[in-house]
Amino acid sequence: MTVTVLIVVAVLALAVGLFVFRAIPGVRAYFDYRGKRLITCPETHKVEAVDVAAKEAAVGAFLSEPTLRLTECSRWPERQDCGQECLQQIEVDPKNCLVWNIVSKWYEGKSCVFCHKQIGPLHHIDHVPALLGPDHITVEWKQIHPQELMDVFESHRPVCWNCHVAETFRRLHPELVVNRTLEPKRIR
Ligand SMILES: [Zn+2]
Repeated sequence: MTVTVLIVVAVLALAVGLFVFRAIPGVRAYFDYRGKRLITCPETHKVEAVDVAAKEAAVGAFLSEPTLRLTECSRWPERQDCGQECLQQIEVDPKNCLVWNIVSKWYEGKSCVFCHKQIGPLHHIDHVPALLGPDHITVEWKQIHPQELMDVFESHRPVCWNCHVAETFRRLHPELVVNRTLEPKRIR
């Protein structure tokens, strides 16, 4: 092997090493900042739902520092020209304001109001749990506007997916449902 080939191999190895070294914070930034988040709007002091440009943050982290910018807010398009001051809240604690984590935490330790089965934290592969409203109608948590979730958590109760499906069927097709009362077990 000539000296030139050795130098080329060394430079390539260095370049790959440098790329991987910079790619790690980039990938981390992408996973840290993707997803819908809840923040308190500094203007209205109300809960709003926002999205951060995660890919842009990843590129920023790859080059030097993650640069944060909103791509969506529940107050847009009316307030699209705002100063995006809420980004500070996300920067301080990106995990705690993630809607998925907030919802997961709310269901954790709670049981379904119908079957009393424990619902527990959310899993990406599972069916989504639901909520029972004061109107006695069940709704999947994903169908609720994220910015309304905090208020909904105050007025609604947890329902598991199975009971949500059963209750929805019961509500939409009451003529097809037969309510049987369970016979008590015979005591010997
Ligand atoms: Zn249930």
